[in-house]
Formats: sequence, C-alpha cells, structure tokens
Amino acid sequence: MSAPMPHVLAIPYPAQGHVIPLLEIAQLLAKHGLRVTFVNTDFNHSRIVRAVERMDFLGDQIRLVSIPDGLGPGENRNDLEKITEVMFRVMPGKLQKLIEEINRKEEDRITCVLSDACVSWPIEVAVKMKIPRAAFCPFSAAVFASGLAVPKLIKDGVITDDGTVIGQQTFRLAPDMPVMGATNLLWTCMGASFSQRIVLDLMVGYSVSLKLADRVICNSSSVLEPAALEFIPQMKPIGPLLAGDRFGDPGGYFWVEDTSCLKWLDEQPPNSVVYVAFGSFTVFDRTQFQELALGLELLRRPFLWVVRPDICEETDELYPEGFQERVSGRGKMVGWAPQQKVLSHPSVACFVSHCGWNSTMEATSNGVPLLCWPYFADQFLNESYICDKWKTGLKFDRGDGGIVTRDEIKLKVHLLLDNGEFSKQTRDLKEKVKASVREGGESHTNFIDFVEWIKAL
Ligand code: UDP
Repeated sequence: MSAPMPHVLAIPYPAQGHVIPLLEIAQLLAKHGLRVTFVNTDFNHSRIVRAVERMDFLGDQIRLVSIPDGLGPGENRNDLEKITEVMFRVMPGKLQKLIEEINRKEEDRITCVLSDACVSWPIEVAVKMKIPRAAFCPFSAAVFASGLAVPKLIKDGVITDDGTVIGQQTFRLAPDMPVMGATNLLWTCMGASFSQRIVLDLMVGYSVSLKLADRVICNSSSVLEPAALEFIPQMKPIGPLLAGDRFGDPGGYFWVEDTSCLKWLDEQPPNSVVYVAFGSFTVFDRTQFQELALGLELLRRPFLWVVRPDICEETDELYPEGFQERVSGRGKMVGWAPQQKVLSHPSVACFVSHCGWNSTMEATSNGVPLLCWPYFADQFLNESYICDKWKTGLKFDRGDGGIVTRDEIKLKVHLLLDNGEFSKQTRDLKEKVKASVREGGESHTNFIDFVEWIKAL
C-alpha cells in the first residue's frame, strides 16, 4: 500500500489576528503542492464565507471546514474567559471526531496537524492520535518567550502566582530584549474585561506546545528579534508572512473589505496619506473616538481611517458634529480595509496603529513608519520593539484620563514625518526583512525545510 499524500490539518485560535497568518501559511503550503484542511469554529467560518464574494481564490488544495466552539449563537465571543473555558472543554472532542471522519478514506488521511501555538489542545489531540504535529506562533517570539519564563519569574519573586508584578520590578529575559515589567507583560495588559489568570494559564501552556510539537515555526524574523529567538532555539522564524510575496491575496477576513480605498489612494500624492487602523479587537469610548477624529482633522493632510462597525462602545452620533463634511475632501473612512494592499501603496506615509503583531509585521515589511497606540495584550511589548529597538516609530503620550489628545496626534504625526531618520530606519529594516523571506534568506530556508519535513512524513 502506498503512503498517503501529505495532508495538513491547520487550526488557528479563533480570532482574526490568528486566522489570517495561519491561512497565509496554508496558501504557501498549497503553493508547494500540499493539501490543507483548515478548521475554523462554525461561528468564524460563517463570517469568513459571508465576507467574501468567492471562496475559490483558495484553490482546490485548501478546504475550509468548521467545528463548534461550544458557545451559543448570541454569546459574546470577545469574552476570552468564557470562550477559553468552553473551547477547552468542547473543541478537542470535536476535532478528534473530525480527524477520524477524514481519516476514513485512506487517501485523505491527515499526515500532520499544524496548530496555533497559543493553545496546546490540538497538539495534544494529535499526540493521542499519533499524528505528527507542528505549532505556529502568530505573535512575537518575545511574547512566547515571556510565557515560557513564567515559572522562573514566579520562582525568582518577580511575579506572584497570578502574574502580578511584585513592586516596581523590571527585568530582561535576555540581554538584548526590551525591559519588561507590569507595563508590557501580556497578561498584565488585558484590560478589565479579561482575566489575567486565564491568560497566564494559556501562556504557561506554550511550554506544552513547545514540548509536544515536532516542529515550531513563527511569523517573525531573526532580523527583528534575534535575542528572543535565541531564547527558544526550537522555534524557527518563517516571516514576516505577506500575501504579496507569493503574488496572492490574503484571506480569512471576518468583515467585508471596502476596496474603494485603493482607488482613492491612487488619487493621493505619493507618501502623503496617514493610514489609521486598530485591528479587530480595539474598542474606543466616544470621547477618545471623537478626539481622534479631531486630531486627524487638525493634520491637514489626507487620511484613510478604518472605522470598524464595532470600533466604538456607542453607535449613535459617532463623529463630532460636522466632521464628515469638513474632511470630505481629504479623509476617507471605511469599515474594513484591504490592509496589506493599503500598506504597500506608495501614497501611504505612515500608520497610526494599535501595534497588533500582524499589523506591525505588515508595516515593517512595507517600510511604513508607525505611530503606536497600543490597546491591550502584546501590543505594549510590540510598541517597545518598534520605538526602542527598531526605531521605526513613535509612541503617543496619554493625557488626563488616559486620553490621546488631538494636539498629541498632530504633534507626533508631524514629528514622525518631518524627521527623515524614521523613514530611513524603516526602509533599512524593510530591506533586511525582505532579504530574509527571499530565496536563500533565513526565513525562506526555514519554510522550505518545514515543507520538506511535511512531505517526508
Ligand atoms: N486588517 C485588515 N483590514 C483592516 C484592519 C485590519 O485586513 O481594516 C488585518 C490586518 O492586515 C492584520 C489583521 O487584520 O492582518 C489584524 O491583526 P493584528 O495582529 O494587527 O491585530 P488584532 O486584530 O489581532 O488585534
């Protein structure tokens, strides 16, 4: 009997910033002749299908399937505490059943499970079913390293058992990594609605993924995080992952893309537009939202602003009075942008960003300097890399009540764009990361090794 064709089952953590990069890997694997079954939750699957006109851009080798996440139709899927608890209870059994069904046909048998590294249960299912497995880290190696370091940090008295930083302590995980402390450790930056304990437990689970996975890859580059990657020698960087590098389109969006902004960008002068977007989770209150609007108005230059339908806690009278009319000649607001294409457009001058890891990688790969406005989780640590290590961006300072004022927005955008050093630094870093994903570069070589490993299973 001949061996089955390589068939990868890929499963992301059910959040937008995790689905997009794993689906990018799926498309790269397909380009190298592998078959991929991509498993979303039922809820996310229907959002993805609804958001695109045609799914056939994924081709014949990628099949999108789904399993339940255990929550009811109307339940809040941004409630990390609830989703984590239910997901851990329900999804492993559903995944095992799915694999058993697929494996009924010998020629379809799953030969490798590729799981998001931030949850260990898909890897544990693969272990139980004796299937080779790999873990993919869609965030920075530094965040992964901080998860691995939790037991030592507790033992050394830097943090308590529930992750609270003791006193004013700061530390470095490795000599060349940013200083860490209560202000940029992921589990201390989750905001009021998320439980520090749950996040800490999830991060302690990284060591399980690392121990049980046969291969570990991440969407980073040793150009960007050499020290963090040295901290985790098993983790091989394959990024930054960008659909444009394989001459394709990214996929897996939860919202419908408004592509009209690309035509609008074509009409703007080169290097003029301030692009403003805060990923998929960030939520503002009305005061901050309106202050941002007034700050963009003060800039007196073109801006493209992603105003997700759920970006604001309030939905009525979102914009300041008369704002839309006043900026209509130079401001464009869209509900969801084709961000990777926007960032590669020559009209874009800078990016006001929440510093999600994907957004950070996309800006870095396109040589776009950043204005950092982190909201939660790993975004504060990403901000440290951008501003303190790579020097490709500036931080916004917050005023009374934690508000970023309109004057602060105007000041920092001007500082960033008027100082040629930032564009030089971003261009230099772009060249280096691009070299690492080109044939012969380290990230590219790591990816090819990964493909060869799967083919040989
Ligand atoms: N994104 C997009 N259009 C938008 C806003 C975001 O395509 O209008 C994409 C962006 O390119 C990135 C992802 O959504 O790939 C957001 O991931 P990130 O890690 O930056 O932030 P998160 O949503 O996880 O907070």
